[in-house]
Amino acid sequence: MSETVTIIGGGLAGTEAAWQLAERGCQVTLYEMRPQRQTGAHVTDRLAELVCSNSMGSTLPDRALGILKNELLRMGSLVIRTAFKHALPAGAALAVSREDFAEEITGLIGGHPNITVHRQEVTEIPAGPVIIATGPLTSGALTAQIQALTGQQHLYFYDAMAPIVVADTIDMTVAFRQSRYDRESELGGDEGDYINCPLNKEEYARFVQAVLDAPKTELKGADKELERYFEGCMPIEALAARGEKSLAFGPMRPVGLRDPRTGRRPWAAVQ
Ligand SMILES: Cc1cc2nc3c(=O)[nH]c(=O)nc-3n(C[C@H](O)[C@H](O)[C@H](O)COP(=O)(O)OP(=O)(O)OC[C@H]3O[C@@H](n4cnc5c(N)ncnc54)[C@H](O)[C@@H]3O)c2cc1C
Repeated sequence: MSETVTIIGGGLAGTEAAWQLAERGCQVTLYEMRPQRQTGAHVTDRLAELVCSNSMGSTLPDRALGILKNELLRMGSLVIRTAFKHALPAGAALAVSREDFAEEITGLIGGHPNITVHRQEVTEIPAGPVIIATGPLTSGALTAQIQALTGQQHLYFYDAMAPIVVADTIDMTVAFRQSRYDRESELGGDEGDYINCPLNKEEYARFVQAVLDAPKTELKGADKELERYFEGCMPIEALAARGEKSLAFGPMRPVGLRDPRTGRRPWAAVQ
């Protein structure tokens, strides 16, 4: 292809697309609006910055996410190759050092002879071959352009904030280190990759009640209007409200864990 391909957005999708095209001899112009214009979730000026979780999910060969990673590796994926290079101990999941990961991809993209990077917001869809890879936090002006092009009024993105447990608040005489089913990663050494806070039946019931009784953040804007959650990323309080055991069968599931105090699986666990 002799024409230059324009890619808007230097996140995971944009950098991978740029790399694949450039490696095949195409000329690529990549636009990334940060740091001139931030998104509200990204905090650095790096390309391929991971927002929120640093885990890319399972690496197991019998899981959809594991199969996908393997396929991407075989196809020469820049993102997955770099993620494995900067992996952190995380049991059977691929978690990465977000700084090292983004730093390396920024350097590789910036140094590729077929890629020109412009740090600039794109407000109109340019002519010629274009890949729009601006993700869930596409800037306002470009969102309006995409809406006009697709005829869709609402481009909707919902995400729940992950609850954070402060390490200092964990009683390590009760909590224990283990990866589910003892699937420790090779990176982690002998200690389990995860800290698990076990709960028995009564503790779990008290925990769920406390979540239900706690003050809630009110939904705003379109979220409030639609009152709809993304099932793949539910807030803990919305899950708890669905039934007493929802958390114990969801993010607090104890499967594959063994409490060393009892030698048995706990009723529930915060991992
Ligand atoms: C708050 C939040 C939390 C999330 N948590 C998770 C999580 O835990 N796990 C998970 O898998 N996914 C999570 N996601 C989804 C996450 O965004 C995607 O997994 C991933 O980042 C998508 O990659 P992307 O390349 O499509 O978009 P991004 O990585 O967001 O990259 C898009 C890039 O385009 C740039 N850009 C936007 N508009 C313009 C413009 N007009 N001109 C030029 N550049 C522009 C942005 O600055 C950004 O760098 C979360 C998203 C958000 C917003």
